[in-house]
Amino acid sequence: MAKSDTRIGFGYDSHEFRAGVPLRLGGMALDHPEGLAGHSDGDLLLHAITDALLGAVAAGDIGSFFPPGDPRWKDADSAIFLKLALEELRHAGYQLVNLDATLILAKPKISPIAAEMRGRVADLLGVAIDRVSIKAKTPEGLNLDHVAQCHAVALVERVEENDELKSMEAVIESQRQLEDVVDDLLTSVHGVPRRRAIAPVFDTDDIT
Ligand code: MG
Repeated sequence: MAKSDTRIGFGYDSHEFRAGVPLRLGGMALDHPEGLAGHSDGDLLLHAITDALLGAVAAGDIGSFFPPGDPRWKDADSAIFLKLALEELRHAGYQLVNLDATLILAKPKISPIAAEMRGRVADLLGVAIDRVSIKAKTPEGLNLDHVAQCHAVALVERVEENDELKSMEAVIESQRQLEDVVDDLLTSVHGVPRRRAIAPVFDTDDIT
């Protein structure tokens, strides 16, 4: 069965705020008295995006590649997880179309830095900033001011260019081989290659 051209993936993550931990969100270090506790750097925006990308191509989730107990990922830069997900996406033959994420946290305010964060995440994803949306809400009525959550949705599309290019190259090559065979035959019959034999001849005196 042919693979579909587009697929979507969804990712979700939550981390608890803890005093004295550096706060990292969207690959940025934010000035805030509390950070997000986690085995890695706690960047739940990148974690949710990673899961959305992996989910789009049914490639598992962040925990299946980076188990929380593995000492290699202690305080790890979450950009590593994102790069792995992009590699899985590419390996499956897909590329990101656009990403939409919603952060849910009481503090700090995201809107003043949302544009910078979108730029940073777009750089990490290797796409233009207009393909990345990052929104934020406060956890109204949830009594979860000590927790940050993130939802992310990614649309991906199948990469066709390589296949098309390969088949075009094959057609061109077979055309060349065919022409060479015809030329050889014509040369053997007429003593002149076909392309030279049928080349148009202009008499400039006739075009006045
Ligand atoms: Mg996480």
